[in-house]
Amino acid sequence: MYDTILVPTDGSDGAEAAARHGLNLATAFDSQIHLLSVVDERSYSSALADLNPSIGEQREVFEQQATEAVGRLEELFSDLSVTCHTAVEHGIPHEAIRSYIAEHDIDLVSMGTHGRTGLDRLLLGSVTERVVRTSDVPVLTTRHEPDDRSNYDRILIPTDGSESATPAVDHGIGIAEQFDATVHALSVIDTTAFAVAYDGGPGIQTLLDTLEEGCKQAVAEVEDACENHNLDVVTEVVRGTPYRTIQEYVDDEGIDLITMGTHGRTGLERYLIGSVTERIVRTSDVPVLTVR
Ligand code: ATP
Ligand code: MN
Repeated sequence: MYDTILVPTDGSDGAEAAARHGLNLATAFDSQIHLLSVVDERSYSSALADLNPSIGEQREVFEQQATEAVGRLEELFSDLSVTCHTAVEHGIPHEAIRSYIAEHDIDLVSMGTHGRTGLDRLLLGSVTERVVRTSDVPVLTTRHEPDDRSNYDRILIPTDGSESATPAVDHGIGIAEQFDATVHALSVIDTTAFAVAYDGGPGIQTLLDTLEEGCKQAVAEVEDACENHNLDVVTEVVRGTPYRTIQEYVDDEGIDLITMGTHGRTGLERYLIGSVTERIVRTSDVPVLTVR
């Protein structure tokens, strides 16, 4: 399913954590890994050159740093039997990453939710945000510091039953097969909108019943798909606020990996990622594979 995995690195811990997860998948899928560091050409632009005449030297320094960043990750992989390519390019990071994906037939990207700048831990890094939003291939994002977790035993597929959730189901199942994992299908009856009027009469009860029916159908579809692949599967339908409920489920059930679509039912605008996905990617303690 994944012959080539790209790990873009800016030399940060976030990128290193992403590299380890990339390596887990590469080992399971027998994939080749590409390590790419992009020298941000805006960092030595002509505007800066006016202030600093030695901009040519700057360029060299940045290129050196990028080379070290890919070199450090390459070293991590050196004892393992994974084929590893390295590349340093000049450009605007998210654009260069996108071109690289197209040119090298990349099947999956693994990157940190934060990079070197990472000032505000509450926001998603801008490079990652753009790649997640626009990538045609799945993107695995990792927030955490590098750890030794190398197996995925419990994979969560949150679903709202929408078309946009389907590709993520296929990837979740594909990974579960390689790791012999149990799939957890979770659908949350979104009670956010009427939290106050919760017990407010028959109208609301009817609406809740309708929503619950949709959620049950959504998890049943995942359950069927898993059974077709002889995978163990657990289903759950609960009321709550989607992102918070998903997070609680991850903690309570010891989930190792989440796969979800970049858009859901609401999916207003194609160029934004869904708000539930955005929050999960930004705050999840476990890696999240987003599929557009
Ligand atoms: P900011 O949006 O302010 O730059 P940040 O540095 O915390 O915030 P990102 O730049 O999005 O966040 O970094 C997140 C991930 O994106 C990194 O872990 C790395 O995988 C990748 N990345 C970022 N910059 C580069 C780059 N220049 N070359 C290759 N990969 C990069
Ligand atoms: Mn950055």
